[in-house]
Amino acid sequence: MLEVLNPATEEVVERLEPATEGDADAAVARAREAYPAWRALEPADRSRLLRRLADALDAEHENLARLESKNTGKPIGDSRGEMGMVAETFHYYAGMPERLLGDTIPVSGGVDVTFREPLGVVGLIVPWNFPLTIASWKMAPALAAGNTLVLKPAELTPLTALEFERIALEAGMPEGVVNVVVGPGSKVGKRLVEHPDVAKVAFTGSTEVGKGIMAEAAGTIKRVTLELGGKSANVVFADADLEKAAASAPVAVFGNAGQDCCARSRILVERGVFDEFLSLMEPAVTGMRVGDPFDEGTEMGPLISADHRERVASYVPEDAPVAIRGQAPEGSGFWYPPVVLAPVDNKDRAAAEEIFGPVVAVIPFEDEDDAVRLANDTIYGLSGSIWTENGARALRVARRIETGVISINSNTSVRVATPFGGMKQSGVGRELGPHALDLYTEVKNVYLSTEED
Ligand code: NAD
Repeated sequence: MLEVLNPATEEVVERLEPATEGDADAAVARAREAYPAWRALEPADRSRLLRRLADALDAEHENLARLESKNTGKPIGDSRGEMGMVAETFHYYAGMPERLLGDTIPVSGGVDVTFREPLGVVGLIVPWNFPLTIASWKMAPALAAGNTLVLKPAELTPLTALEFERIALEAGMPEGVVNVVVGPGSKVGKRLVEHPDVAKVAFTGSTEVGKGIMAEAAGTIKRVTLELGGKSANVVFADADLEKAAASAPVAVFGNAGQDCCARSRILVERGVFDEFLSLMEPAVTGMRVGDPFDEGTEMGPLISADHRERVASYVPEDAPVAIRGQAPEGSGFWYPPVVLAPVDNKDRAAAEEIFGPVVAVIPFEDEDDAVRLANDTIYGLSGSIWTENGARALRVARRIETGVISINSNTSVRVATPFGGMKQSGVGRELGPHALDLYTEVKNVYLSTEED
């Protein structure tokens, strides 16, 4: 039996029978059966159904937010924001079926036109840190493009995915278009990756598992998109609005208790303002409200599991250079306080590896070239921020940092209408915005001769 816990209390909130490989096969078969009719639907009708689903998600907003907080421990305010984004993602892609345009290409002897065609059944495998949000980034464009899907949520956080399946059916989505299977990644997830009737796998998770998925997908030349780990840099120049940068830095890494692929978990600070920056950051760290996810004032919840807490703690050994340590509750729940390590060398384990918890490494740099060198000295390339009042420098550095997403004088990375994804070992492909549709369609080229007989 799969026991689903509330990480803030360690109580069991649900017991589920885990799916098997046979259940995965059955879900793929249902999706395959539903595919021809879903694909053939008039674009305006597909649009209408997706809009109804988006409206239903709006109506279930509070229910979904509470469920997500109960299952992940994230503060209720954060869950409300996330569930707002889930509905918004469906509203956005509901407008897309009629906008899947092709090209008309002038060629000799006739005309050449292209069509954007769906792939078929897609397998979507998602992690536990933003369970329904990340699933929606995959489901909405996949469905808009005419694919049917099998979604496998993380075993630790399946509840909102199961609720979504119910909402989708009640909103009028045809049987078999959306299928959710809850089971272990090593069996059920693996089966989706190997399955010959699954045309594509879209995966979000760790770089290690992503590498295995890429290798396994080769067996069927399956399309893959991968959203993997990160170790993003928050680069603070001496000419920045330091107060603003220092107030934002803790939010940028301790949000979702640091369990965020976009976490700015390396803060690079120009040496001349290093100590001043740490002093400015201190009140935002020590004052961070860590506790009950259902208390409206809570800013940070617990970690997802006891195992994960142990892993995070291994990055803060006895002799770690702890510059600032925040508060965390005692007793039941997988609590861990926000921790700032400074100064850290970029080669140290805490600066090189993705911790995925509320631990940040602060690293000094000498000048612009040094900042870029340090920011790029990582296997990852997902996100990041640059703080400076010099606009030309901001853009120059943004162009030089090897990352899929970067913000200037801001710590936000994700918007429904803009592409999101990683360079280097942070992944392959882009989600969100119009770009995501490219990853759920194939281009078909049709040539029509206009020659006379
Ligand atoms: P994980 O890689 O352990 O698991 C992710 C999903 O893959 C789960 O559903 C799991 O059951 C499944 N899985 C595990 N083994 C599998 C296999 N062999 N075949 C198929 N599926 C398998 O990741 P996690 O611990 O759930 O999530 C944390 C990781 O996710 C972090 O590294 C984080 O950076 C990353 N992440 C990346 C993004 C992004 O957009 N780049 C977003 C969120 C999280």
